Amino acid sequence: MPESYNYRIDRDNILVSVSGNWDRFSAENAGADSVSAAEVVGRALDEFIADDDTRSLYALVLDGVRGSNRPIAFRFRCDSPTQRRFCELRISPGDDGAVDFESRILMTERRRPVPLLQADEQSDRDEFLKACSMCKRIAVNDAEWVEIEAAIGRLHLDRRERTPRITHGLCADCHAGIVASL
Ligand SMILES: [Zn+2]
Repeated sequence: MPESYNYRIDRDNILVSVSGNWDRFSAENAGADSVSAAEVVGRALDEFIADDDTRSLYALVLDGVRGSNRPIAFRFRCDSPTQRRFCELRISPGDDGAVDFESRILMTERRRPVPLLQADEQSDRDEFLKACSMCKRIAVNDAEWVEIEAAIGRLHLDRRERTPRITHGLCADCHAGIVASL
């Protein structure tokens, strides 16, 4: 089993503890976006979820886990600019409404760096691309979500002077898959 990093929320969805490897894991995997354990504990889980669609899904998942008193696990991607990372999140009910989250990287694949994933000042302030927060595919139109390399080709992003900024949402496949597992 690959190493996991864990965190727990209380019945009010406040982060109450994180595993001892949190700071190292966060620095290695989140880079500039890393948040230390000291900054995480005491804050609401919602603050760490980027968009409303994913926040709504988490609310459903937490209701499901607490209501059924059964764990749920699903796959997600936690990519970096140079790696595709295939991850799993297991969410388990605890005592008194607490819920435990266990996240691990199952497999990584190296890829040619994707500069689009490194937000910087060169990014366009007005144009946005929507990425699914679970599978990290990009919406190329209202109904179609593709891997970022395919999106760059389809939308000719490599020919632009400024790259769009990435926002997050949830694709229909991920939403349906996770809801079905509840
Ligand atoms: Zn998705």
